[in-house]
Amino acid sequence: MKLAESSRRKFEVFFRKQFKNEQFQMPAIYFYTGRFTQFLTTTLNIQGITIRRSVFVKPKFVTLLENKKYKIHVELAAHEIAHVLQFEHEGSFRFLFKYFKSFAVNLKQKGNLKSVSRQQAYWEIPFEIQARDIAAKFVEWNKDSQSKNL
Ligand SMILES: [Zn+2]
Repeated sequence: MKLAESSRRKFEVFFRKQFKNEQFQMPAIYFYTGRFTQFLTTTLNIQGITIRRSVFVKPKFVTLLENKKYKIHVELAAHEIAHVLQFEHEGSFRFLFKYFKSFAVNLKQKGNLKSVSRQQAYWEIPFEIQARDIAAKFVEWNKDSQSKNL
């Protein structure tokens, strides 16, 4: 499903301020949360994953309301949207290359392949640090809306 226009607009206002660029336009972003996404996020043990403009969110972070509209956890959505913009900014190939290269470098520095090291290596990827930072800022900026969901 496509990100609701009201949410898209909200992110656009936020990122225009963040980037100090009034011309910034949010791309059309699509969220997926079906069975394939459940399988993918469970297998990889993650909350969500972004590939270009497609965001796959673990179903437990998505609520279906009575009016058949979906609500997505705000911080997670902001985090994944930050990755969409990283994809746009770097270009897909360069983004993925840099992402996995820093993961590999971090992992090598940890010196072993235990699950804790993998988690830390992932945590310290610069794109992840930036996405967490942006998500935290968005939550703070958006806190007046009184909702954890979009
Ligand atoms: Zn991430």
